[in-house]
Amino acid sequence: MSSGHVQSLSSDELRELYRSLILDHAKNPRHFGKLDTATHTSEGINPLCGDKLRLQLEVDAEHRIRDAAFEGTGCAISVASASLLTETIIGLHEDEALAWFDDVTSHLTGTSDANGRDLGKLQALGGVRDFPARVKCATLAWHALRSAIENTDEPVSTE
Ligand code: ZN
Repeated sequence: MSSGHVQSLSSDELRELYRSLILDHAKNPRHFGKLDTATHTSEGINPLCGDKLRLQLEVDAEHRIRDAAFEGTGCAISVASASLLTETIIGLHEDEALAWFDDVTSHLTGTSDANGRDLGKLQALGGVRDFPARVKCATLAWHALRSAIENTDEPVSTE
């Protein structure tokens, strides 16, 4: 079920809020650009939609993500998802970020209820479940995150 502060909203209101949140992040993406201090970089492409992004992380010796940034081009969903991702993972340990990967991707693909985690703003992306072609737009940045942390040099593709 939804978290405490949104319980009194109707599903229409909630959908409208989610829509504005996604549009806001798509128009004004957070942490957009290059990261000079990057220690990890990965690229993701979603050929189905034409989304392309590069995600960069600065990870310290204790495996904590000090900073993150992304750049690229894509649809509103892919950009908003990457923007929300950077906000979520900065300050986290790599293992915590990977746990977010699991919970968010299972939420977006509808395979589980995010293991019971309150996804906060990331709930907004859940609307893609009604549009299967958009699921890959929303998960692209998250796959790039896993790839960056695991330091695989292969670009991630959703196809
Ligand atoms: Zn897309």
